[in-house]
Amino acid sequence: MRPGEKFAHSNGTLTAVRREKSEFGELVFAGEVLRQYLSDSALEGLRRWEEGEPISLALADEIANGMRQWAEDRGATHYTHWFHPLTGLTAEKHEALYEVIDGKPLYALNGSELLQQEPDASSFPSGGLRSTFEARGYTAWDPTSPPFIYGHTLCIPSVYISFTGEALDYKVPLLRSIEALSQAALRVLRYFLPGVRRVTPTLGIEQEFFLIDRALYWRRPDLYLTGRTLIGAPSPRGQQMEDHYFGSIPSRVLAFFEKLEREAWRLGIPLKTRHNEVAPAQYECAPTFEDINIAIDHNQLLMDLIQRVAAEHGLASLLHEKPFAGINGSGKHNNWSLRTDTGINLLSPGKTAKDQFRFLVVLSIILRAIHRHAALLRATFATPGNEHRLGGNEAPPAILSVFLGETLSKAIDTIESTATQPPIAEKQPMPLAIPKIPAVFRDNTDRNRTSPFAFTGNKFELRAVGASAHCAPAMIVLNAAVAEAFHDFADAVEAALKAGKSRQQALFETMRAFFVESRAIRFDGNNYSAEWVAEAQRRGLPVTSSTPEALKAYISPSSRQLFTRLHVFSETELHARYEVRLERYVKALRIELNALRSLVRQHVLPAAFQYQMTIAQAALQVSQALGGNPPEPQKSLLKTIQTHIDTLHAGLEEAEQVERLIDETSEVHAQAELCYERVRPLMERMRQACDALEQLLPAGASGLPSYAEMLFYL
Ligand code: ADP
Ligand code: MG
Repeated sequence: MRPGEKFAHSNGTLTAVRREKSEFGELVFAGEVLRQYLSDSALEGLRRWEEGEPISLALADEIANGMRQWAEDRGATHYTHWFHPLTGLTAEKHEALYEVIDGKPLYALNGSELLQQEPDASSFPSGGLRSTFEARGYTAWDPTSPPFIYGHTLCIPSVYISFTGEALDYKVPLLRSIEALSQAALRVLRYFLPGVRRVTPTLGIEQEFFLIDRALYWRRPDLYLTGRTLIGAPSPRGQQMEDHYFGSIPSRVLAFFEKLEREAWRLGIPLKTRHNEVAPAQYECAPTFEDINIAIDHNQLLMDLIQRVAAEHGLASLLHEKPFAGINGSGKHNNWSLRTDTGINLLSPGKTAKDQFRFLVVLSIILRAIHRHAALLRATFATPGNEHRLGGNEAPPAILSVFLGETLSKAIDTIESTATQPPIAEKQPMPLAIPKIPAVFRDNTDRNRTSPFAFTGNKFELRAVGASAHCAPAMIVLNAAVAEAFHDFADAVEAALKAGKSRQQALFETMRAFFVESRAIRFDGNNYSAEWVAEAQRRGLPVTSSTPEALKAYISPSSRQLFTRLHVFSETELHARYEVRLERYVKALRIELNALRSLVRQHVLPAAFQYQMTIAQAALQVSQALGGNPPEPQKSLLKTIQTHIDTLHAGLEEAEQVERLIDETSEVHAQAELCYERVRPLMERMRQACDALEQLLPAGASGLPSYAEMLFYL
């Protein structure tokens, strides 16, 4: 049985937050309300925009006016361009929706305000793309993601670019990658589905997070400053019993979920799943998949919502990849597929040989893309938080490979060895020998939880992205890499046709060649095993656990060629991303080191000195009372405590030296390497001493809540 605390906060009834069907998307300016608030000519303009016509200022004026009226009717007082700078968070600068004219408020929003804003945004990371003396940056409306009301603010999803037109955000390259992918895919699809005019990636994002008591959270400076615990001895009970996963949801958390889901519902975020995850205090929710741009906007919004709703329930949400050492970290599975404008999922294997051939072609293209750009895709999830999670025995390793499952792997082997296309078996019924239970069907792929990139029946699941991450960096690379492979496939087929091959031959042989070329990336075994690391190295796959090392892939010749050829990033934009990623790594580690220094000085050492004194005095008194030398147990405890104090003292001195060394290092990549090589191991050594002391000192001596309290007090 689980400890009873999970119901400690229940008032005896299960709260139910009521939700009406009609409330879905009520805070979103899309669908039915457009007809209500926009004129026929504006609707017609929007229709033409969908077909590729630009939005004129006159049309923007009409839309802005309708949008403003709609927002005003729903109590909005402000509006903002809502954008995605390279902080990984969203940004907003609120403007009142009204002006006061002759002492009277007049609500207005015009087309140019909708189209473009110029926030004085010199303080966002730009990787050297902008210096403060030429700091102009523009936000511009992204009409492909609908505006919504958050609190009392009308939020207009926007892109963010510099004075010279360079992307300063995640949305610009994402939108470019979506465009590039569609164009490339059409070159191949015309052989299979000539009626298709557009291909869009779909994305379903599973979000993991921890919820802990808010009062405990605010007593842990490491949590609120860095997102993770920098010290903390393991709780005697962690996740060993495997009883939290899918367990009954604690009352306070259930109330949180109901509120979260209602707010998400109103914002048009289609949350579908909720459950307890493996670690105590760990949870997950996932929406139904959507077009990738909207799915990513929704995930950014959801992360914000999770934090706000948690606060309302006396909880703090931890979105960090590894808030607690020794128990599972949190990821964000990116379920990705490709959908045509005619509604076909290109990763659905299909039933007929013809459909399965198309599916296999697309599969060969994706495998080839991942194989060619494995290091780059790996770089997208190389973040300070994920450095602690990847390879942590519950998360995929830092090596990229693709899991296909037995059925598909066998099919590809057959294609490679016999040059014929085998049928892909459909789901099969399984005999259960219980007549009263209806037939259960077995999927044609099993799951491989250890794989960073797994085929799961009709989509790929990229599991390596960290829980707090913005999904765009990984999705931009995936889209671009697959776009490039579509182009290469089309080029090869066109060349073969020119050389006199039949269409069938050209397609089949190209597919086969792609499968053969990308063989090294396919791995159905256990990704957590040590043998895999050696095997991956033998296969020539990129293997590194160092973030600065992994990030180099951003500026490798193959990455530069990929991005510039497809116009997803210019050379300067790409270099800027690389710089920003390194800078943020260095900053994150330095903040952690400083937070650890304060914890040691202000919490751990004072508690250790205090306890030492108590024991020393007691030992003297005992020896006086009993006669003879101070007793051995006390002496040995004093010595042990002193050893840890010595370690911490040396650690603090070394920290100062390392800090100086980083300050004196001018090049950011060298700084990042210093962080990886010096700061991380130093922090680990100091942590070990702190955790050992925690286990020697009286409970609560340092004033910091323990792992046991944080993980179980719900
Ligand atoms: P699991 O944890 O078993 O992988 P979940 O139900 O938690 O499954 O999440 C699966 C996610 O995959 C959901 O967000 C779902 O909408 C998404 N998904 C399903 N089909 C597709 C698809 N064609 N394209 C993108 N995402 C998809
Ligand atoms: Mg899941």
